[in-house]
Amino acid sequence: MKILVLNCGSSSLKYQLVDMATETAMAKGLVERIGIEGSQLVHEKDGMDKVKIGAEIPNHTVAVQMAIDALTHAEHGVIADVKEIGAAGHRVVHGGENFADAALITDEVKAAIKECASLAPLHNPANLIGIEVCEKLLGVPQVAVFDTAFHQTMPEHSFLYGLPYELYDKYKVRRYGFHGTSHKYVSDRAAAILGKPIGELKLISCHLGNGASVCAIKYGKSVDTSMGLTPLEGLIMGTRTGDMDPAAVTYIMEKEGLSPTAMEDLMNKKSGVAGVSGLSSDFRDLEDGKANGHKGATLALQMYAYRVAKYIGAYTAAMNGVDAIIFTAGVGENGADTRKDVSEYLGYLGVAIDDEKNGKRGKELDVSTPDAKVRVLVIPTNEELIIARETIGLV
Ligand code: AMP
Repeated sequence: MKILVLNCGSSSLKYQLVDMATETAMAKGLVERIGIEGSQLVHEKDGMDKVKIGAEIPNHTVAVQMAIDALTHAEHGVIADVKEIGAAGHRVVHGGENFADAALITDEVKAAIKECASLAPLHNPANLIGIEVCEKLLGVPQVAVFDTAFHQTMPEHSFLYGLPYELYDKYKVRRYGFHGTSHKYVSDRAAAILGKPIGELKLISCHLGNGASVCAIKYGKSVDTSMGLTPLEGLIMGTRTGDMDPAAVTYIMEKEGLSPTAMEDLMNKKSGVAGVSGLSSDFRDLEDGKANGHKGATLALQMYAYRVAKYIGAYTAAMNGVDAIIFTAGVGENGADTRKDVSEYLGYLGVAIDDEKNGKRGKELDVSTPDAKVRVLVIPTNEELIIARETIGLV
């Protein structure tokens, strides 16, 4: 079966067609700036140069149709007819407490995704649009795979905040966690690499991309994770603050005269390493900046690594030990300097990385020294493959 995997953002759409016979991506692409001037589709097929198609893309219906047209195109397409697509799998960001697993899309599931939209106002409505557009254009079974589902195993003492309990009862204010699909994929791969059953391993997975989170995975189950009610909590990210004193929020709002929306914008889009450095949210720019003596970039990188290391220390305590630490996503997979900076805090745990191995990139690597007590693994994430597997499992 061939499965179309879709990740609909508010103004973007990522797609991938996965051939489940080989579990490989036949083609993939990105539609950017949906509903904004300058929209385009970038399509990739193995062995061919990227194809860029600029067009007016006013909404997600047009975007999904363009993706299907690219997949069925005579030259850069990979299937002759849309009927070859057997099912569609969607990344859905927030499943609240309703979903501990992926779900076959029904009217009830769509209603539940809608209900969670207040917890992920930028993501869930876009995810739902993608589902409804595919319903019309493809007419095949569809599955929703939730970013939050993997973390539904967290115990109450780890997911509750120190707020009056009635706020949890009334509004379900609690830690949900995100990047679950990625944390699950890399932890399964880590068990395979280490040659041990996942049920015997204590793992800490660091998904360090534009958004970033750490997850404590004890015997295959998420027991804690750094993102919370929303993807703002935890690590310092590209443009997001991560943890800070909640009182700083009201203090800054009063001092700067900011509305709740303006404050949210500041915390989500203007903070993180971009805000601290005053330079960029991209780690390549920050590393160049540091090499050229940029003080802000140097400080931002120091703060970033320090925060990741603090979480690893905390999660080691939460699990009473750790067998391996996993780095994944854009920075985790490519940022050798960040991996080294984080690892240097963790010598007391028995972490030691080999600089030569750590300098390599692009595939699964064990970058620890042979005698290190805790393994450090670099594992490229593959959220699309997990979505495709969950989809075929349900249809
Ligand atoms: P993701 O959200 O997983 O796509 O990660 C995107 C981020 O990965 C970018 O913003 C960069 O900060 C980072 N990144 C990508 N390539 C590199 C690289 N070669 N070295 C360091 N960081 C990188």
